[in-house]
Amino acid sequence: MGATRRGADVHRTAITGLAIDAEADRLAQAIDGRITLVHADGRVVGDSSVDGPELASLDNHLERPEVRIAREGQVGVVERYSTTVLADMLYAAVPARHPEIAYVRVALPLTTVTRQVTRIGAAALLAFALAAPVAIGLAWLSSALLSRRVQAIASAARRYGAGDIRRPSHDYANDELGDVARVLDASVQDLGRRAEELARDRAQMEAILSGMVEGVLIVNRQGRLQLVNRAAEEMLNVDASALGRLYLEVIRHPDISAQLTTALGGETSPPHELPLGRDASRSFVARAAPVSLAGGGGAILVLHDITDLRRADQVRRDFVANVSHELRTPLTAIRGYVEALIDEPSDADHTRHFLDIIARHAGRMERLVTDLLRLARLDANQEPLEITNCDIERIFRTVVTDLTPSIAAKEQHVTMVVAPEAGVVPVDPTKLHDIIRNLVENAVNYSPERASVYLEAHHRSGWVEIVVSDSGPGIPPADLTRVFERFYRVDKARARPGGTGLGLAIVRHLVELHGGTVKAENGAEGGARFTVTLPAQPDA
Ligand code: ADP
Repeated sequence: MGATRRGADVHRTAITGLAIDAEADRLAQAIDGRITLVHADGRVVGDSSVDGPELASLDNHLERPEVRIAREGQVGVVERYSTTVLADMLYAAVPARHPEIAYVRVALPLTTVTRQVTRIGAAALLAFALAAPVAIGLAWLSSALLSRRVQAIASAARRYGAGDIRRPSHDYANDELGDVARVLDASVQDLGRRAEELARDRAQMEAILSGMVEGVLIVNRQGRLQLVNRAAEEMLNVDASALGRLYLEVIRHPDISAQLTTALGGETSPPHELPLGRDASRSFVARAAPVSLAGGGGAILVLHDITDLRRADQVRRDFVANVSHELRTPLTAIRGYVEALIDEPSDADHTRHFLDIIARHAGRMERLVTDLLRLARLDANQEPLEITNCDIERIFRTVVTDLTPSIAAKEQHVTMVVAPEAGVVPVDPTKLHDIIRNLVENAVNYSPERASVYLEAHHRSGWVEIVVSDSGPGIPPADLTRVFERFYRVDKARARPGGTGLGLAIVRHLVELHGGTVKAENGAEGGARFTVTLPAQPDA
């Protein structure tokens, strides 16, 4: 229609009269339809379906519906039956700016229009039929690719969720989805690294706490147990099920509960010593302190087991008491005899007798002091081992020779048996001599006259066993482990006058210095039996 209007503008000056009708014919041919050119007064001045002379017989077209619309300056389109061409037509009229032509009307038979619409529809259908499979194919392909990538990202995300944060092996493409996946990956890796660091820190803290000998217990601000390490579980007799419960319900010890209550109130109470658990012989020091608000608030309780400290304290006190007692006995005797000599001077025999007693007590004091000094040196590690390969039989012989006067006086019988493979042992010879001498001296001293004393040495799976036994009265079973304690004597009445009560303590010290053990038993046929076990190899 635009072309028609333009055509009308172009020819408005050049065509007049019959030429107008011819122009209508020419235009009609170009569009394969009917063209009617109408004057402003409604006369038809050109029509492709009517020859020039007959134009005058045509009705005035001003009232044709399409022309009426065109008269209002719009495009008039109307369908109707044409009495001129005797067919259903589609009319379209537009106003024209030409002195002779006011309206240009185009008419197409409806069959032509329908045919053209059908042709266009068919062409569109064909185009759709050709394009649709390709479009569907392309859409399917691209959605399949996209869905595969989305699934790969989702599966990586699921894996991350399950805790496996290894980076996927494939690379993401360089598009928006790839960018999103890369950002997701980077943040997961970062989170993973932090989670690993946290887990490592936590494991380290748990290892430290569970390895601590001190008991540690933490309660939160609400007074619920947050942490109880293994030592605290054992000391307070609670287990892991106590976690999350109120300390007042779980901890049965009122002193500890009171300390925690004070700490939850923001104050630190002084350390408190208390017995704990079923075994009241154990002593603990408890100290509770508030946890700063920055640390989450609450309170922390630390329990130190000071049982060994207290025991060592007691041993030291007993030791001092024993030493004083052991020294006082001979001192009192010496003083008494000295005073007697001063107060009542008597004959030479009497004096000699008193002086012998004084000398014996002085000797006892000297031995006591010597043994005490030796124990002090051993305690302070001031007697280093000097290991050489020693002939055990030789040491046995030396000891027996040294003690021959006592053995002979009691008419005792000594037997020595050294197995060939136990003949040479890596030991400190002086110390082994002292060990054996102490044991043999005891055997001789605590056994009656004509008793037998046995010295044996044999090899037993990497160790050398030295056994000193006798046919004497033996040791009551309850005292077998205690005889190695300092100043421990089975029977004070039976204690030999020369003994210090320190001999076996020194023996145990010297044996342990060699990495060995010593034990006391009674022989199957009575008599005491001491077994010293020493490593057969220097580095065993
Ligand atoms: P002591 O100087 O009193 O002998 P020891 O430490 O050598 O001190 O011995 C501790 C205690 O062990 C002795 O007092 C004694 O009661 C007991 N004892 C040691 N050896 C024997 C033994 N062979 N037979 C019986 N009792 C023994």
